[in-house]
Formats: sequence, structure tokens, C-alpha cells
Amino acid sequence: MSTLILSPSRPSTAPASPAPSAPVRPNLTGLTRPELAAALVAGGAVEPAKAKMRAGQLWGWMHHAGATDFGAMTNVSKDLRATLAERFSLERPEVVERQVSTDGARKWLIRMAPGIEVETVFIPGVGRAGALCVSSQVGCTLNCTFCHTGTQALVRNLTAAEIIAQVLAAKDDLGEWPSDKDDRQLSNVVFMGMGEPLYNIDNVAKAIDVISDGEGIALSRRRITVSTSGVVPELTKLGNATQAMLAISLHATNDALRDELVPLNKKYPIAELIAGIRAYPGLSNARRVTFEYVMLKGINDSPAEARALVQLMQGIPAKINLIPFNPWPGSPYACSSWGTIETFAAILNKAGYSSPIRTPRGRDILAACGQLKSESEKLRASARRQAERAALEGAIAG
Ligand code: SAH
Ligand code: SF4
Repeated sequence: MSTLILSPSRPSTAPASPAPSAPVRPNLTGLTRPELAAALVAGGAVEPAKAKMRAGQLWGWMHHAGATDFGAMTNVSKDLRATLAERFSLERPEVVERQVSTDGARKWLIRMAPGIEVETVFIPGVGRAGALCVSSQVGCTLNCTFCHTGTQALVRNLTAAEIIAQVLAAKDDLGEWPSDKDDRQLSNVVFMGMGEPLYNIDNVAKAIDVISDGEGIALSRRRITVSTSGVVPELTKLGNATQAMLAISLHATNDALRDELVPLNKKYPIAELIAGIRAYPGLSNARRVTFEYVMLKGINDSPAEARALVQLMQGIPAKINLIPFNPWPGSPYACSSWGTIETFAAILNKAGYSSPIRTPRGRDILAACGQLKSESEKLRASARRQAERAALEGAIAG
């Protein structure tokens, strides 16, 4: 049994809430370059002619150096630093919980606003060095039957700044400033946390612009992957706006089963999805689409389904991620046996497709992508269970 190191995150440094009368200083963290320039002008700190230059200076401090204090910005005059500190903030959202798995995976619960809590996971040994799994929504509208997030109603879309804040929080905790530091662990970002990124495409695209900016966090767009359950009409926009790598949560090779597992399939069935993928901008042998396929015991894991998958992918530059199903409390499925997964993978490999089996990471901290659920929701669920238990005990006692 693996041990879990749980450390309450920086309770002592958690920012105090401003006094009720204190004016709220706009936070500059997570704005795009044009938004940053506009905010500096709107706040009366910088004249319009100098806005672009000043925004460039601040950008480097915020996104290359990771500064959270205007005082650190030594190439900005003392007077301007004081004005900036008076009118703006660089505060990070509060990390309310931090967990480190025995295998090096880390999970943070970040409070973006009251009631808006988001889980973000870092998984070492994925991609070039390690992948950060970010959330794009709190909850999800889509109700995939194997997904923990799907059991939670959508609370709201995250803003671009809230998506970027997840990357900043991870870099803070991993000690990855400045951004061009050697031996970086955070090399990839995957939108595989909570939510359907293509239902929040504008904010996802903005966030990708910021985290891929060469003078800031500088993550290559080729190392940023957006996973979708198949919102076909948004695929072209995603490719054109972000040049991100595409991952498709397929999970079934026929419409009857996919309708059940991924209910969005009723709206955009497999044939439409495949046509949308073929048209994805920039798709090539060097930029393959990833098909994600969760291995559910006795549901979608037969050799015949592996062969059907090969048929479906014919002519598409693709690779396959076989994901061992991660059970969660109350989940209606079991994970396929290792032998079944290997047989399935062998059929794909024989047909010429790379099909790594994603080794489960961070299981001890429920850190797998697709398992994320906001803590507030868990607490509500646990309160509900307690109430149910009390009612049951009452009934038995009666
Ligand atoms: N909404 C997007 C991205 C978030 S889910 C999507 O569906 O693609 C990220 C990945 O985790 C998806 O492939 C999803 O199908 C998978 N997933 C969800 N729940 C899972 C579970 N319990 N075990 C394994 N993979 C799961
Ligand atoms: Fe939403 Fe993706 Fe989970 Fe489906 S798998 S419920 S789309 S987060």
C-alpha cells in the first residue's frame, strides 16, 4: 500500500481577505499581452504610447521569472513599481490542499474564488519530462458514465487566468522559475482535468497563447494537448486558434456503445467525429491525433473491438492511449485485466499503431485525469452520505 504525504498548503501564507472597504486591485496575472497593456493604461499607471513596452517588461517578470511582487522588477523605475503595487495585484489563488504521491505525482486543490475549487495534477515521466493535467471547467455537462467529473454538475467555465493559474501554481511548487531553467520537469500540458475544453474554447485558446509565449512560460504548442469527448463543430477552431495537439476520447468503436459511455455521441456520432478529425488543421505524421481508449472490463475490451478500432483509424495519422480504467467510489465499471489490455495493445501494435498503455500514476491520491472532482462537491457528497447514513440508522433503530 503506498503512502500518501498530505501537507496542508501554506495556511500561514494564505492571503488575507481584503477589508470590506479596500478597493479590489485588478490582478495582472494571467492576462494576455494586449489585455495586460490595456489594464496598465486603464489603471492610469502607464501612458498609451508606452503600454506595449511596459507590458513586455512585466510579462518577463511575471511569466519568465515567476514574480509575485512588483518590488522584484528591477528594470522598472521605483516610482512606477510603487504605482503598480498600489493599483494592481500579482496574487496567486490559494492552494488549499497539496498531495504528493509515492510515485512523484502531485495534486493541488486550488481555490479560484469562493466555491470554485479546481484540481490540477502533475504526472512525472509523461511527455518529454512531465505533464501537467489542467482543468478547463468546474464540473462538466457531459455525464460520461465512467468519469468521476461527469457525476458533478457544471458549476462554471474557468477563465483564462484561472487556467493559467494552475500552471503557475505547479511551477511555484515544482520550483520551476525562471522558465528556461535546465532540467525542467514540467514539459507538457494536457487539458485532461475537469471539464470539456471545447465548451470553453475561447478561454482555453487564450490560456494556450499565454503559456506558449516564447518570452514567458514558453511551453511549445506541440507539447500542449487538448482532449475532447468529441465536440465536432469546434475542432477546426481549436486547431486554427491554438495549433495544439488533439486527443479524442473515443472509448468505443460503435455508436450503440459510445452513445452509452459518452452520451455526446448521440449528437456527434462516430462517423462525424472521424470526419472532423481528418479535417483537423495541421494533422500529419509528425502531429498525430491521440485516441484515448479507457479499458473497461467486458464492455469495450475484446479483440474484435481492437480490430474495429484499427479499421476506424485507417488513413489517420494517429496513436492510441490505452487508459486502464480508474475506479472511483461508486463507479459502475471495473478495469480490464492486464492480460486483456496487453492482447488489445498487441492487435493495435501489429497494425502499426503505437499504443502505449498509460501506467496508472498517483493512484494513491486519486490523481488520474478524469477522476478529478472539486473538493467542495466531495464534501457535499460526504455530508449527503452522512445524512443518508443517519436516516438509515434512524430507520433501523425505529
Ligand atoms: N472532457 C475531456 C477532457 C477531460 S477527461 C474529455 O473527455 O476528453 C480526460 C480523459 O480521462 C478522457 O479521455 C476521459 O475519457 C478519461 N477518463 C475519465 N474518467 C476516467 C476514469 N475513471 N478512468 C480512466 N480514464 C478516465
Ligand atoms: Fe466531461 Fe470528459 Fe468526464 Fe466526459 S470524460 S464527463 S467530457 S470530463
